[in-house]
Amino acid sequence: MQRIRKIYFASGNAHKRDEMQRLILDGVQVVLPKDEGIAFDPVEDGQSFIENALIKARCLYDIVKAPVLADDSGLVVDALDGRPGIHTARYGCSEGHVLTSQEQYTLLLKEMEGVEDRSARFVSACVLMLSGDRIYIVQETVEGSIALSPMGVHGFGYDPVFLVEDTGLTASQLSDEEKDRHSHRGRAMRRIDALLHREMDNEAL
Ligand code: IMP
Repeated sequence: MQRIRKIYFASGNAHKRDEMQRLILDGVQVVLPKDEGIAFDPVEDGQSFIENALIKARCLYDIVKAPVLADDSGLVVDALDGRPGIHTARYGCSEGHVLTSQEQYTLLLKEMEGVEDRSARFVSACVLMLSGDRIYIVQETVEGSIALSPMGVHGFGYDPVFLVEDTGLTASQLSDEEKDRHSHRGRAMRRIDALLHREMDNEAL
C-alpha cells in the first residue's frame, strides 16, 4: 500500500483530533472533515461503541473515498448500570438544550453523590477504514473511578472527574504524554498504529 500522508478523522471534535495527531505515525496528518469544508453529521444510532464507530467511518469514507479513522468513545459507570456509555456525548442534553462539558461532569458528580462504588472506565472503539472493504476495528479501555470533585486543567470532556487507575490522579492532572500512555484512545491507537505501520511497509500480518 502507498504511504499514507493524510487520514480523515470522522469527528467534529478538535480535542480528539489533537490526541489522534499525537498518537498516529509520524508523517501522517489527521484531518477533520470540517477542516476541508466537508459537512459531516452522521446519525449515530448504533447499539454499541463499535457500531457507532463503523457508522462514522463508513459515512465519511463514502464522501472522501480515502483512508478514514473513526473513534467512538464514552464513559461507563458501574453504579449507573453502564451509563452514560454510548450516550456520553449527549449526557444531560435534550433537544434545544446542550450542556457544556463542565455542566455534564457536574451533573455526573450530582448523580454520584453518596454512591460508594465509584468504579468506571473509558472505552474507545477505533476503526481504520483503508477502503470500503478493508476495515480494522480495535476497542480498548482504561479503568478508573469517578472522583468526588473535579481536579486538573488538562484534557477535555470528563477528564477532570475521572481518576485513572494506579495513578491517583484525574486524567486532567496528567500531562498529554501521560494521558496518552494510559488512555483508552492511546491503547487503541497503538494497535491501529502497528497495523498502519505494517500496511505501509507492505508487511504481511
Ligand atoms: P463521541 O465523540 O461521540 O465519541 O463522544 C464521546 C464523548 O465521551 C465525548 O464528547 C466526551 O465527552 C467523552 N470522552 C471521550 N473520550 C474522552 C476522554 O479521553 N476524556 C474525557 N472525555 C472523553
